[in-house]
Amino acid sequence: MKKQQNILIIGAGLCGSLLALRLGQRGYNVSVFEMRPDLRKVDISAGRSINLAFSDRGNKAMKLVGLEDQVKALCIPMHGRMIHDAHGNTFQSNYSGRTHEFINSISRGELNALLLDEAEKHENVKIYFNKKCKSVDFENTTALFKDYKSKDEFLEDADVIIATDGAGSALRKSYYLGKKFLFSFSQAYLTHGYKELSILPKDNGDFKIYKNALHIWPRGSFMLIALPNLDGSFTVTLFLSYDEGTYNFNNLTNDERVLEFFSKEFPDALAVMPNLLEDFFTNPTAPLGTIKCSPWHYKGNTLLMGDAAHAIVPFYGQGMNASFEDVVEFDAVLDENLSSWEATFKTFEKRRKKDTDAIADLAIDNFHEMKGHVNQAIFQEKRKLEMALEKQFPKDYTSKYALVTFNEDIGYREAMLRGRAQDKAILNLLADKKIDINGDLKTILEQVKQETEAILEDD
Ligand code: FAD
Repeated sequence: MKKQQNILIIGAGLCGSLLALRLGQRGYNVSVFEMRPDLRKVDISAGRSINLAFSDRGNKAMKLVGLEDQVKALCIPMHGRMIHDAHGNTFQSNYSGRTHEFINSISRGELNALLLDEAEKHENVKIYFNKKCKSVDFENTTALFKDYKSKDEFLEDADVIIATDGAGSALRKSYYLGKKFLFSFSQAYLTHGYKELSILPKDNGDFKIYKNALHIWPRGSFMLIALPNLDGSFTVTLFLSYDEGTYNFNNLTNDERVLEFFSKEFPDALAVMPNLLEDFFTNPTAPLGTIKCSPWHYKGNTLLMGDAAHAIVPFYGQGMNASFEDVVEFDAVLDENLSSWEATFKTFEKRRKKDTDAIADLAIDNFHEMKGHVNQAIFQEKRKLEMALEKQFPKDYTSKYALVTFNEDIGYREAMLRGRAQDKAILNLLADKKIDINGDLKTILEQVKQETEAILEDD
């Protein structure tokens, strides 16, 4: 595959801008077409998750393109979950017993802007805004665009088209509607949606609640979370059913009801959200879903990547991280100099899909864990034990959360299988009273390891 080949990327979001940068670094001619205006010039954050949890898999991609330090400057470390109970009491549950393992809150806009700036520094990368892809002719490797300003339609030709145009991907729709090959596609919505709210900074710019944690108000069938921003504010997200339960998005329709809901369920959050009603009735309510499909590519012509190939629910904080990891994995396949784009795409999908399927399933598991399990005594005992094991035996024990989030050397699927077996082992041992969390940790570690191996063998 000659370097001077023309690669067309659809979508300049997080994955597309990183991919453009990496392919630019590798010497390809890259054209990126983005439907929205340039976010460095126009504020277009409304309605999208304003900040995100950024962790080691995403950071691996930043190292690959040489941006680790610049991205670090945009990050606020979050060492654990700060759980807020219904009475306003709080306790922190760390993400790991190893102090160097934590996640970060990062602004979507700032990160995207940095990636666009860096991509554009390469003469061989061109980014065009306000150009919406309407469809892709994957047999002839052309894409049809509409210019939002002039309203003109135009066709772009390329050697290869890679779609990083998110969950509503135009290429994926073209695969599906084209019916030219066996394309499998599934989309599963949760019955819950989300709405973004905010906790503004104090008058002096300080944070109103503890800065270095991911705050959670778990309430069984719904929850509120908050992630810090560099300006002293928090982006708060309410995850709630559309139509089930006493309070739901469909019946929170007036000021009194929203205030009643928050004063009953989240009184300490309400106390720092004087702007609640304005946010609630201004910001959209959006659905949450999982998209799986295959194949991701058509011959050597076109490829789906990022959310376009595998959109997931946000509860593991891994959608962006997984999309960034796609670029790292794709880059590793390019290093192998396979004989054709078809072989490259095929190898990439074969290695990657099992892992993106796994993180999709793990993200659903974590939805239940965050909104409910974190409040249960046995779950809290398990987390306490895991923290102690990680602290005392940092090389011998790694929890499921840490395997998924901090262990970028193994894939999501391996992390899922080992992590689930460990969870089951500890919960079994605790339920059967075979371990006492105040007992000898070395003995407990051995018991957990034995039980885990037995479960893995059975599965
Ligand atoms: P996108 O970010 O969706 O980018 C797609 C781009 O393509 C956009 O710029 C779009 O304008 C453009 N586009 C779309 N259609 C077209 C078209 N037809 N023509 C041209 N351009 C087009 N992930 C994490 O890792 N951590 C988190 O904490 C986290 N929190 C989240 C919270 C919420 C509420 C949600 C919804 C998601 C969260 N995610 C998180 C997931 C993360 O947002 C996505 O996985 C990530 O944005 C995927 O990047 P992408 O570039 O593939 O897609």
